[in-house]
Amino acid sequence: MTSVFKSPSTYVQGRNVTTDIGTHAESLGDTALLVADEIVMDMIESDVHESLAEAGLDGSSVVFNGESSEDEIERIASVAVDEGADIVIGAGGGKALDTAKAVREEVGGAMVSMPTIASMDAPTSSLSVIYSEHGEFEDYWYYEQHPDLVIVDTEVVAAAPARFLRSGIADGLATWFEADAVAQSGGDNEVGGKPTRAGHKLAELCYETLREHGAGALDAVEHDAVTESVDAVIEANTLLSGLGLESGGLAAAHSVHNGLTQLAETHDATHGEKVNIGTITQLVLEGHSDARIEEFIEFSVELGLPVTLGEIGITNPEQVDLDVVAEAACDEAETIHDEPFDVTPAMVRDALLTADEMGRRVRDR
Ligand SMILES: [Zn+2]
Repeated sequence: MTSVFKSPSTYVQGRNVTTDIGTHAESLGDTALLVADEIVMDMIESDVHESLAEAGLDGSSVVFNGESSEDEIERIASVAVDEGADIVIGAGGGKALDTAKAVREEVGGAMVSMPTIASMDAPTSSLSVIYSEHGEFEDYWYYEQHPDLVIVDTEVVAAAPARFLRSGIADGLATWFEADAVAQSGGDNEVGGKPTRAGHKLAELCYETLREHGAGALDAVEHDAVTESVDAVIEANTLLSGLGLESGGLAAAHSVHNGLTQLAETHDATHGEKVNIGTITQLVLEGHSDARIEEFIEFSVELGLPVTLGEIGITNPEQVDLDVVAEAACDEAETIHDEPFDVTPAMVRDALLTADEMGRRVRDR
């Protein structure tokens, strides 16, 4: 039984840290390539290049087309080679960061993650989600190396629509329940070993931080404001959730999410919104007390997170095939099998229907 913990080398977070990127990236190489879509490029390009130049680094940019597809990765990798880049900086959402990670894997050198939203675990992780040109999920690519530097500008993140932070909170809340299930079952984490105490505790700290600061942080970002609560939640969504998920491990909530993506009706719901339904389903599946489940649902409602299937697009659960969701959630590669008991599709379907009913009852009372 071998425990493994992996993480990026450096994590930097604060207001306006975009303008310090050169200082933090200085030791990583000589020539940086900034990868970002048009909108993010407009937002940060001049600050990034100015800071790189001050630190004595050469820098160039390439506009990302928005899809982390094999073709786009090839195109950007050839730009990186032409520019002689030994540092790839990915800025933006998950797809931009995942593309930059794939490019670094291909051309070597260092990788810098610069998330502009706090809705996902991509900034700190050592994998890319690969899509087709048309945005259909294709594959996960796993890497030996983590990003060398993760740099998060809280002012930029707070200025993004609140829905992103809210979704990231849902994803972060799930991290604890999933890591705890893996710890109980003795299952594997996502970095090739058993969870360390550190991975487990970081997931718990993620949950506690979000419970203490989630609502206040959302109030602040509705006004693009940065407060201590915003700072705490960005760290929880990005660092604690990212490390907690990789080194603590995933269980039912993300498998239910993956199952839900089978239904076209759910495609307008974000990753975190679907994960929240997965978390409630996991709690039902694990047989927690009514009070415990209702308390989680109440907190979700307070934050504006979905607690019913209707809120993620499945307005008539009787008419869609929840067996398809349950079957997909129980695929043999799924992390649901890291729950401390055997899980069958019938159990998942029944837990989903029950979670939906409980969500409606608690929300409407
Ligand atoms: Zn997630």
